[in-house]
Amino acid sequence: MDSKTQAELLKLFRSKITRTMSYYLETCTRCGTCTDACHAYASTGHTKYIAAYRHEIVRRLYKKYFKARGKFWPSVGEAKELNDMAIEELYEAAYSCTGCRRCMVYCPFGIDTQMLMSIAKLLLIGANAEPEILTLLADTSVEKGKSLEFFKDNFLAGIKQLEEDVVEKWRTEAGQSAIPVDVEGADLLYVALAGAHSIIPAAAVFNAAGEKWTLSFFEAVNFGAFVGDPTKTKLILDRIIAEARRLKVKEVCICECGTAFRIMKQLAGEQPFKVSAITEVHARYLREGRIKVDKTLFSEPVTYHDPCQIARNAGVSDEPRYILQQLTNNFREMTDDPRYNWCCGGGGGLVALGEETLDFRMKSAKVKVDQVKASGAEILSTACENCHTQLSNLNDHYKMGVQVHFLSSMVADALIGAGKERPAS
Ligand code: SF4
Ligand code: SF4
Repeated sequence: MDSKTQAELLKLFRSKITRTMSYYLETCTRCGTCTDACHAYASTGHTKYIAAYRHEIVRRLYKKYFKARGKFWPSVGEAKELNDMAIEELYEAAYSCTGCRRCMVYCPFGIDTQMLMSIAKLLLIGANAEPEILTLLADTSVEKGKSLEFFKDNFLAGIKQLEEDVVEKWRTEAGQSAIPVDVEGADLLYVALAGAHSIIPAAAVFNAAGEKWTLSFFEAVNFGAFVGDPTKTKLILDRIIAEARRLKVKEVCICECGTAFRIMKQLAGEQPFKVSAITEVHARYLREGRIKVDKTLFSEPVTYHDPCQIARNAGVSDEPRYILQQLTNNFREMTDDPRYNWCCGGGGGLVALGEETLDFRMKSAKVKVDQVKASGAEILSTACENCHTQLSNLNDHYKMGVQVHFLSSMVADALIGAGKERPAS
């Protein structure tokens, strides 16, 4: 690594050193409490996956370049040179961590591994060593935000084709659009993922509840956050905020995408709308009697996997359980306290990297598989696209023999009421 690149990277590192980050960088006592907390370590036994070990990869650079002791007596300060080998270590640490923050729950000082790994990810971007595909996907999202007019017509044509499938789940009144798009003055803006599975069941439930809603032109996923680029994360977020403000909605509902929800919830700032996860909205409809569901449809034992970015990291864990209590008499917990639920091993961009990470994802999530098996469930429900993909991969790999379902689809399939019948032809 040449000195110019090193200087640029150190500038990036410095930009991340806030007061909170300094606390995380300075505080670890190496007590070892977090050792078994990481699913990757618990599943494989490899020391490099212990949270505190990952921290040290970043901390040693901090000691070398930002602490007096490290600058003058590197061996005493356990400081480490920022060079090509360090970049490789940063990659290994950052892209084997899902950012699930289970270790943070165990750490007596609440040291946030996801935050420390955000330094690693930023340095990787600076060194052009991040996974290229994540940057490409983030760039595509940013471009889409700048040129809505170019893709608007194609998007609307695609949405039109889905309407019949929505009506099959819940009949709409004559003249009423089954998937309203770009409706100014709607109460709720739904931000989906690309793909019919994220739109059709959600639309049916909104229509059944009599919601005044509209679909977003943009997909929820934030690849800027996966790759750890704060600028792109904000640009991708801002296009949805601008749309919500333009349409004057009162609520932005994020589909089953954990990272998209956490980013919107925590980074949107003060806005004239509230931010909800789709599970919160569905639980509200059920509580208020705006929708009714058939409790006999799912008679098999059902369990729920808490997506880390929705439950542990954004506090939504009661609502999915309330929904499941309405959907089945056969719900089984995997853990007494959702904060300690194992991560599925698919977050942090790992699922988005596909085959490249498949072997690691399967090996590092053995503890999750054991947890699901111990529940005796035949239906494994969840509320995040990444988790759904990873759990489906685990189901195939370990031959778990469960059905993996999106919770929102279960709600849509179980809807009962006058709109359930097919419209008269
Ligand atoms: S955030 Fe999750 S994946 Fe990362 S070290 Fe902690 S427990 Fe492991
Ligand atoms: S639990 Fe916290 S203080 Fe203890 S080793 Fe882990 S990160 Fe360090």
